[in-house]
Amino acid sequence: MAVKFKADSRRWLTLGYNPIELEKEIREFWKTNQTSQKLMQLREKTNIGALGYVEGPPTLNGVQHVGHARGRVMKDLRYRMKTMQGFYVTFRAGWDCQGLPVELEVERALGVKNKKELLERVGEEHFVEECKKTVMKYYREWRSADRKLGMFMDYDKAYWTYLDEYIEREWQYLKRAWEQGLLGEGYYVVAYCPHCQTSLSNAEVGLGYEEVEDPSIYFKLKVLGAKNEYFIVWTTMPFTIVTDMMMAVHPEAEYAKVKVNDETWVLTKERVEPIMQKLDVKDYKLLEVVLGKELEGIKYEYPFIDMVPKQRELDELPLVHTVVGEDFVDISTATGVVHLSPGNGEDDFLAAQKRDLPIYVPFDDECRFTTEAGEFSGLFARDADSKVVDELRKMGLLLSVETVRHEYPTCWRSHHKLVWLARREYFLWTDRVNKKVVKAAENVNCFFDSPKNRFLSFLKEGKPWCLSRERVWGAPLPIWVCEKCGDKTLVASKKELLERALETPGQHFELHKPWVDRLTLKCEKCGGAMRREPFVIDCWHNSGASPYASFTDEEFEKYVPVDFLVEAIDQTRGWANSLLLEHVILTGKAESPYKAFLFYGFVLDEKGRKMSKSLGNVIELSSLLERNSADVCRFYMLWKCSPTDSMNFDTRELSKRPYQVLGTLYHLHRFLMQNAEYDNFNPREHTLKWASENNVLKYPDHWLLSKLQQTVREVTEKLEVCEFQFAMSELEEFVVNVVSRQYVPVVRRELWSDNPETLNRRLAVYATLWHILKTLTLLFNPVTPYLSEAMYQRVYRQLDKTLPESVNFEGWPKPDEALQDEALEQEFEILMQCVSLVYSTRQNAQLKRRWPLQKVVVVAPKKVQTALKNLEEALLELANVKEIEYVKELPEETDEKRWALALGEGMQVLLDTSRDESLLGEGVMRDLARRVQALRKELGFMPTDILNAVHVAELDSGSVRLLEPYLSEMAELVRTRKVHLHKKRSEVKAEWNERRLDDKKVYVAIE
Ligand SMILES: [Zn+2]
Ligand SMILES: [Zn+2]
Repeated sequence: MAVKFKADSRRWLTLGYNPIELEKEIREFWKTNQTSQKLMQLREKTNIGALGYVEGPPTLNGVQHVGHARGRVMKDLRYRMKTMQGFYVTFRAGWDCQGLPVELEVERALGVKNKKELLERVGEEHFVEECKKTVMKYYREWRSADRKLGMFMDYDKAYWTYLDEYIEREWQYLKRAWEQGLLGEGYYVVAYCPHCQTSLSNAEVGLGYEEVEDPSIYFKLKVLGAKNEYFIVWTTMPFTIVTDMMMAVHPEAEYAKVKVNDETWVLTKERVEPIMQKLDVKDYKLLEVVLGKELEGIKYEYPFIDMVPKQRELDELPLVHTVVGEDFVDISTATGVVHLSPGNGEDDFLAAQKRDLPIYVPFDDECRFTTEAGEFSGLFARDADSKVVDELRKMGLLLSVETVRHEYPTCWRSHHKLVWLARREYFLWTDRVNKKVVKAAENVNCFFDSPKNRFLSFLKEGKPWCLSRERVWGAPLPIWVCEKCGDKTLVASKKELLERALETPGQHFELHKPWVDRLTLKCEKCGGAMRREPFVIDCWHNSGASPYASFTDEEFEKYVPVDFLVEAIDQTRGWANSLLLEHVILTGKAESPYKAFLFYGFVLDEKGRKMSKSLGNVIELSSLLERNSADVCRFYMLWKCSPTDSMNFDTRELSKRPYQVLGTLYHLHRFLMQNAEYDNFNPREHTLKWASENNVLKYPDHWLLSKLQQTVREVTEKLEVCEFQFAMSELEEFVVNVVSRQYVPVVRRELWSDNPETLNRRLAVYATLWHILKTLTLLFNPVTPYLSEAMYQRVYRQLDKTLPESVNFEGWPKPDEALQDEALEQEFEILMQCVSLVYSTRQNAQLKRRWPLQKVVVVAPKKVQTALKNLEEALLELANVKEIEYVKELPEETDEKRWALALGEGMQVLLDTSRDESLLGEGVMRDLARRVQALRKELGFMPTDILNAVHVAELDSGSVRLLEPYLSEMAELVRTRKVHLHKKRSEVKAEWNERRLDDKKVYVAIE
């Protein structure tokens, strides 16, 4: 048996597409050759321009799941494409190491219940060490998952948000804010997590809305001095009645006084009917309508005045426990009367501040009522809800109580319900630079409208940024306060700190608690000792400092604003927001630190449910990629839907179309390689130019080359504007339909021959396929880097040793107008229409495509006829007929038994369905040949191996008679020296294989 393949290529040519094995091999290849490092160096040295990039740092408090991976696939895609286009991209990794997420992860690992226990049992120093260990543990997990995914990031130049160098540069942002008066202390109502015992920023609040249950109560507050007159109020936070200070109505709205039994109720006129219905009051009478402002100043009886001594004290103050007018009161819901607790609500707080009222906030750090709350002291705020309801009921003030399920902000890390508390905090007064911020954001390219609108509408809220956190593991707030004179100073460098410190720190010093707290500075005003404000900085500020903190000054000048960022949609409130606010403060300009930002949608499970630990449907990347191919996953994520859409991730889909597309590309390469090696194709010699000069290119080749140019153009354009799913369908269509289903069948038979006279024609087909498939390999590289590299090494570098070491060092394909031929493409459209008409006729007449037929008559106008005549060779091959006749009009009479008709647009086809003995014989031969081909494959023969003999036994005598004239043609087709027919299997000793031929059994053996 002739072996026509080199040993190394022979191995892969026999393999099916097994991407998991292939990816392992390529990973080793990249590692051994340091491909990603070389690529970075190559583009740093020679490029057509530099593009800044800053990594949105993953938090190292858990492992990578598919939601993360979706974004990483897009990042890597952009990087590889831009790099192939010749740009240098600062594609450096970054790791988010500090803040609540990491702290809570460590608390869990240490089995600590809350912050108090943490500080007592573990201590700050030990806790910080544990946080670092956790960060390193998850770092290794992320690296390993990234490696499987095929990420080409620069990990050597990664930034780490907890390192002193980074924190010092983060402090520069604060210094700029301090100098501009945009950073300072404030007393304000902030969202507070009772579990984490820290306040959260406005942006963080938006990250954690969940559906929760709360009590919903209607109650009465009695008008002082009036007989049986009450305001009707609604709340879902009964505990705030303990801190109640005022009642608000809308000054311009109409309020009704309604008689209910012997009482008078006051509520907004608009809501009388629904509220009476709600409270099941049937008999009521409208007494009077007044404007809200006429109610202002009315004093009401505060219900818990005997239980809360402090409230009795406050009650003495003017305006306390009276009705005030406020425009924020919404009269379209509830009763249009709201009670105000300035210690527990932002609007309430502002209303009290406006009237110079004290703020009553009787809570400790665990959110329990202090002794100032009298009989409620010791109760956790939300636990006081039921006591409040009970007390109101006892006093006869409760009208109704039920439970509502509603969306309510919870802690984005610990999922506890947040409580609003007035606290002393440090703020970035970002509200004062809001115009610049919004203007900067308007100039950002977000590719799609809906994320952009979401981003802008959040930014327009423009609330101050509560920056201080009462936690441990974070960048310390670098503000020191004099114990004596109260003067404050911000020190933004480690060097300056150590110079100004009153005593030198011990051996170990780093910019973290507790070390940094131990430094006391000398007050420059009065000489007193200054102590640090004990806060750490919001971790979102920490990661949002990355454009300046991760670059040097010189790099910052060069690369910021960066070119393009990708993060999940929730980062409109998260990192994208921090980056923008900080950059505007740092530069003082209405400029965003990024020119473009792609916000991508969440990854949901196959049923469209959110992935969560409690549902157990989170897909971790590492385990996903143990059983699935990274390339297939990458393709799937980009192909399935638009990047802005939520994606239902269904692992069962991976093995369907996505695998099929990549498998087709793989098998097309095998097809090329098997044939090309056999004919000693030399890509450096047998180029398209050579083929064209020797006049061996035919219409199908020209057509395919022309189609490719449009594909290159479309794919590039779609990738540039992040319409990844359209780029993927372009590639899919070209690989599966255009090359595999349309082009290859036209040229396949030409390649079977080994006639030296037609060698040049075969070489021209290889030149065409080489060009087409290589271009596709490059276009696929940003999406499926493993498959592209494998094909590059096994096919292109195998046959052309002068090519660069890796596919990644290649340039991005550009459409070549010289190869484009629109007229030809249109003719091929006509051809394909005609072929598909023939196929449907065959199907109706139950004539298999591989059965040759005598004739087809095409009824079409001249123009269509000309097009088909130009491509007749391809048409004969695809339609599998012996001859074609063209007519302008349908013959008046046709034998309906013999001729099957199919109607198309502007074209009709008549197919001769009769089959004489020679056609039948050829059909039998092809059927048998197909089974022999399949057997050859099963037994591991190469398509070009020449067999010694093929044996066929127990074929019925009719078929034998038909087949006999075709034996030598069959021998050529299945590449054997001879085909032997046997009546019985026993006639020859062979390894028989049973096959079915239509309804009959037949036995085949090969040797
Ligand atoms: Zn929390
Ligand atoms: Zn002082």
